[in-house]
Amino acid sequence: MAKRDYYEVLGVDKNADEATIKKSYRKLAMQYHPDKNPDNKDAEEKFKEASEAYEVLSDKEKRQLYDQYGHAGVESQFGAGGFSWENFTHRSDLNDIFGDGFSSIFESLFGGGFGGRSSGRSSNRGEDLQIELSLSLKEIAEGCEKKIKISTKEACDKCDGSGSADGQSESCSQCRGTGQVRQVRQSLFGQMQTVSECPSCRGEGKIIKNKCGKCYGEGRMGKVKEISVKIPAGVEENQYIRLRGQGNVGPRSGSRGDILVLIHEKQDDIFERHGNDILMEYPVSVSQAVLGDEILVPTLGGKVKMKIPAGTQSGRLFRLKGQGIQGLNTYSKGDEIVRIIVVIPTKLSKEEQEAYTRLKEFDAKRELKPGKSFLNKLRDIFS
Ligand SMILES: [Zn+2]
Ligand SMILES: [Zn+2]
Repeated sequence: MAKRDYYEVLGVDKNADEATIKKSYRKLAMQYHPDKNPDNKDAEEKFKEASEAYEVLSDKEKRQLYDQYGHAGVESQFGAGGFSWENFTHRSDLNDIFGDGFSSIFESLFGGGFGGRSSGRSSNRGEDLQIELSLSLKEIAEGCEKKIKISTKEACDKCDGSGSADGQSESCSQCRGTGQVRQVRQSLFGQMQTVSECPSCRGEGKIIKNKCGKCYGEGRMGKVKEISVKIPAGVEENQYIRLRGQGNVGPRSGSRGDILVLIHEKQDDIFERHGNDILMEYPVSVSQAVLGDEILVPTLGGKVKMKIPAGTQSGRLFRLKGQGIQGLNTYSKGDEIVRIIVVIPTKLSKEEQEAYTRLKEFDAKRELKPGKSFLNKLRDIFS
């Protein structure tokens, strides 16, 4: 099969700038990533092909050579068998897409021989914890700081987290204290060495014979602690905030996991949220709508005066600029949208009855035309 043109592989044109090339590669990498396509050789090949194209086109010199001489121009950059994963120098470009999971997939592609263990995440890292935090619209609008009680695992005070009653431990005989066992297997990328956690010491490299009586050798105990969380303005339902290193401590002085604070937005009695705007309905009387008035409208920051002009129709929208929610990661604020609803009285005093009867005489001279504007309004609402 003829080698495909690198620009074609990435789906960009010859003049594409660096950012476009990167964007396109990231998209392909997401699509063909082996994690998302387990045991799919075709996807693995496509991932590799895109990575090769990216390796060349993202580098000024290599790209120039390729533009001038084609594939022959860059062949010498790679080994005898052509591009292989060892030639790929952009692992870090992808870490933000795939996170730590990406390093681990690369480790399985490269084997333990390449770059070693990159994430440094030890196997006895403590668990991540998740808690839900309910916030009012007002708290979301301005951002806030909250104190939360959470049950975590903390180092055992009797053994100081070691898990050992006498402070002693022995080197694991199966892995000779390294915590890792190596295996060699065949794969599409050639012979690969994989490194995995030693099953007998669970990656710790040592074994405790005389266990601590309080924590039974685990080195940690349950405890309730109070943490403080800063919530930025503008967060939304189901977003979460990661508090790094505040989760469970790992067994036997392992590193700490994280706490994930999941945001839940409480229903507000008055306002409905639409992105960073807030919506509300405000009832006025027939006379207020007809003659106009100044009303006091609730906002997230207290009541504000608002003028409604004479002849305001029911359903008319007014926009209070900047009275909405402070956007997340922007400087702009949403608006408050007030929908005026004219309330028709249902119980009338004798005097009112007389007044409306008199009004009716005037209204009889007014011509009201039937039409389909109601349907148009419905369309506006549901479009
Ligand atoms: Zn203990
Ligand atoms: Zn071991």
